[in-house]
Amino acid sequence: MNDTPKRVALFGSTGSIGTSALDVLRHHRDRFTLVAIAARSRFELLVEQAREFRPPVAIITNPSSEQAVLEAQESLQADGIVTEFMIGEQALVDVAREAGYDIMLGAITGAAGLPANMEVVKRGKRLALANKESLVMTGPLLTRLARKSGAELLPVDSEHSAVWQCLRGERTSEVKRIILTASGGPFRQTPLDRLAHVTRDEALRHPTWTTMGKKITVDSATMMNKALEVIEARWLFDIEPERLDVVIHPQSIVHSMVEFRDGSVIAQLGPNDMRLPVQFALTYPERLETPAPTLELNQFASLTFETLEDRRFPAVRLGFQVARAGGTAGAVFNAANEIAVEAFLKGEIGYLDIVRTVEAVLGQHSVQGADTLDAVLDADRWAREQARKKIHR
Ligand code: NDP
Ligand code: MG
Repeated sequence: MNDTPKRVALFGSTGSIGTSALDVLRHHRDRFTLVAIAARSRFELLVEQAREFRPPVAIITNPSSEQAVLEAQESLQADGIVTEFMIGEQALVDVAREAGYDIMLGAITGAAGLPANMEVVKRGKRLALANKESLVMTGPLLTRLARKSGAELLPVDSEHSAVWQCLRGERTSEVKRIILTASGGPFRQTPLDRLAHVTRDEALRHPTWTTMGKKITVDSATMMNKALEVIEARWLFDIEPERLDVVIHPQSIVHSMVEFRDGSVIAQLGPNDMRLPVQFALTYPERLETPAPTLELNQFASLTFETLEDRRFPAVRLGFQVARAGGTAGAVFNAANEIAVEAFLKGEIGYLDIVRTVEAVLGQHSVQGADTLDAVLDADRWAREQARKKIHR
């Protein structure tokens, strides 16, 4: 099956997932052609990527100056590289709606990734989804639109990729539980009374996934990331929260598991390298060889599993609550968290205030239906405002 190369659009190309994806494309040059890239402000890297992969379109949503963008485009042209540079958030939506691509890898962080992802789904295209926030915000809407248009939502998040792989050829009705694994992050063993004082730098030091972007690294420390993943799994696999579970697995080798009603548990294992799930989403249903190092199980004395402590990681309980509530709860949960993480990274609030802020905003929200993008974006705006008020009070 080595025919026409697949046309890939990659939004969030300068980030951790984006650069992993480019490494996969580099390794399988004859299989893919890159048709669009997008970033927010790391412009030099974006230009370098344009020079290497020669996509027809490159989007920068927040450039330092329009002049610099024009100059870069001209300098590439002088070298025979025709990449059109587009500026602003609207370009993401326009390109998602109109460009010729076979698969979009949505790897922008946070709510900013949503509008373009919606367009991909409306068009009935294949969406490789790293941006879990999209599903958390609009799970019911996005999955309904996908069913209607025939769009495919393929997970990139390692846990969901694992579950997806465990479910291949299985019947969802025979699933007893989906068990998501979590590394436990940097504070898995920190004395509880020290958590109030842990610093930004400590939170940014993830024990097993070392190259992630800042936002998701903080989310992993609070386990807000796992909470988001519970909600993501709820919509992606159309499974009730009662059949979802989280277990701590500090080595991050078992990426997740599915238990079936006959008692069999199928797990997916692999090195903790995002190039694996990224590649599988891009090549599905094929499996190609990997540019990443492969798993050496004898380097692990043991693979261990622990129960999650609610007192240490209350975020996960909130995640289940939101997964059960549905509607606008997901958008509120996500937005309050984005604001709280930003404030924590700026040193405006302490580590424990992140989850406290989210819980307080959630507590004030009366959940509405989230059947339209407008309803979701309204809830998102409201939650951001409430979170900011709490932080700056
Ligand atoms: P990074 O912070 O490393 O990268 C984010 C990317 O999105 C950058 O390319 C950034 O551009 C771009 N971006 C951010 N905001 C905008 C915007 N408004 N318009 C255009 N581009 C924008 O994050 P990660 O790669 O770590 O994460 C990306 C997504 O993947 C997140 O949703 C995360 O939850 C998810 N994910 C990540 C995993 C990981 O291992 N890293 C694992 C599982 C999921 P710029 O560089 O210019 O700022
Ligand atoms: Mg994950």
